Order: sequence, then C-alpha cells, then structure tokens
Amino acid sequence: MKCKQATQMLSEKLDRPLSTKEKINLAMHTAICSPCRQFGQQMETLRALSQAYTKTKESRRKIIFIFCVIKPRSLTSKTM
Ligand SMILES: [Zn+2]
Repeated sequence: MKCKQATQMLSEKLDRPLSTKEKINLAMHTAICSPCRQFGQQMETLRALSQAYTKTKESRRKIIFIFCVIKPRSLTSKTM
C-alpha cells in the first residue's frame, strides 16, 4: 500500500467502516510508516474535535483551519 492510499483510507475510515482486508492493509502500512501513523492519530483528533464542535458555525471554520495545519505535505510526494 502506498502512503496516498493509506491516508485516503484513514480519512474514509471516519465516514464508513473499513473491510477486514482494508483494516489489515492499513495496519500493516501504519506499522512501518510513522507519517501515516501520525496522520491517523490526527484524523482521530480531528474527528473528536468535529464531533464536539459541529453544532456552531464558528467552530466549523476552526476545524478547517486545524485540518490545513495538520495535513502533512510530505505525504503527497512520498511513495512506498
Ligand atoms: Zn505511509
């Protein structure tokens, strides 16, 4: 699995349940790839934040800002 797929799956994980095969692939990748592991943790944090704040308009802007800050740039060019 490439980093691009792994990060895509990590964000999809928030919207839909992953299949067993996908979970295994993702776990195998994050076990050896620390940027993706970190990204996964950030996505979990983001989800927690969005769940806590989606009720107000103002906070939605904050969440977008946080997402732009944490999005790892290195992942887009790196391949595995
Ligand atoms: Zn990776």
